[in-house]
Amino acid sequence: MRDTADPSDLQNKRHRFRPSSPFKDRSATLSTSAASSPTPPVLSVCAVCLGRERHMTSECTAAVTWDKQFETLCTRLNRGLVTRSNNQSVCAKWQREASCKDKHTFLHMCSGCGAATHGASVCPRAQKAPSVNPVQA
Ligand SMILES: [Zn+2]
Ligand SMILES: [Zn+2]
Ligand SMILES: [Zn+2]
Repeated sequence: MRDTADPSDLQNKRHRFRPSSPFKDRSATLSTSAASSPTPPVLSVCAVCLGRERHMTSECTAAVTWDKQFETLCTRLNRGLVTRSNNQSVCAKWQREASCKDKHTFLHMCSGCGAATHGASVCPRAQKAPSVNPVQA
């Protein structure tokens, strides 16, 4: 090892030794790192537009459903859920998959189609959840 630059070595200007070579080992870039795109958690159905796209569902006032197939029955008003027809308060909890068992003045009807038998999360009009590897065989 004699490549230490000697300060007195003014004559020897020809040494081109570069410690950091630009030629890097390219084989490293070929190794495909298992592109693991984490599947986002399934978004719950918006009680207004019935879509699962990421948006401000608590303030959604879409006039038509996510697929533009139906006019929305409900809208958001002051973060509450009300019917468009007569501003009746609709239970937002009812629209979730867990549903709601409370007894209160909020309407237990589907905010998507108006049916009293289900909530928006299971409404036939709602956007289907993306199929993520069904576990059952
Ligand atoms: Zn929405
Ligand atoms: Zn309720
Ligand atoms: Zn429905």
